[in-house]
Amino acid sequence: MNNFDKPSVLVIEDEAPIRRFLKLTLSDHGYSFHEALNAREGLSKIASEQPSLVILDLGLPDMDGIELTREIREWSKVPIIVLSAREQEKDKVLALDAGADDYLTKPFGVQELLARARVAIRHAAKSPPQADSIVTFGQVKIDFGKRLVTFNDTELHLTPNEFKLLAALVRHAGRVITHTQLLREIWGSEYTDETHYLRVYMAQLRRKLETDPAQPRHLITEPGVGYKLKLD
Ligand code: CA
Repeated sequence: MNNFDKPSVLVIEDEAPIRRFLKLTLSDHGYSFHEALNAREGLSKIASEQPSLVILDLGLPDMDGIELTREIREWSKVPIIVLSAREQEKDKVLALDAGADDYLTKPFGVQELLARARVAIRHAAKSPPQADSIVTFGQVKIDFGKRLVTFNDTELHLTPNEFKLLAALVRHAGRVITHTQLLREIWGSEYTDETHYLRVYMAQLRRKLETDPAQPRHLITEPGVGYKLKLD
């Protein structure tokens, strides 16, 4: 990516109306636009165009979008947003597990598209939080260097697993992290079916970190997919 140019988006999608919509919207909002009609062309354009963001459809004529995501991740860290149809709920989760950063469910609107694109590109430009970095949201302040979490300037006690869960959410802030990813990161890959662990720990975190735990503003549930930390 050349930071002095406008960010470029590569759209890999076989449906012409969706490509047109994306081209119009993204070009209108300061992105340079590239397109590929299938996975093979997409892979070669990621290499040649070095886009700032890839938007890829899960239903491509020549390759499964999940498989394509996995292949891209073998050699590229480019942010990936997958496009899924309503009936591809399960595929969208698999795509996130394969390394996609976010998803859009068709049909989606202009504002949603632009917001997701901004978050994905911004996140890719930032290095992961350093050991001494401080993250704040709502009334919460996390000092990773000191392993210290405060709510309204009052120190909170978090258990080691609560802290790990919070740290994982911070690393993915603004984006969905799937149940499988969280379980693997915190408990290990033999626990990836134990989604009830997450429900329990998320409830605990919300009680400690949300002003109104019943109406969370930051620790958000993405039904059927996972969780997301909203910093603002
Ligand atoms: Ca398609």
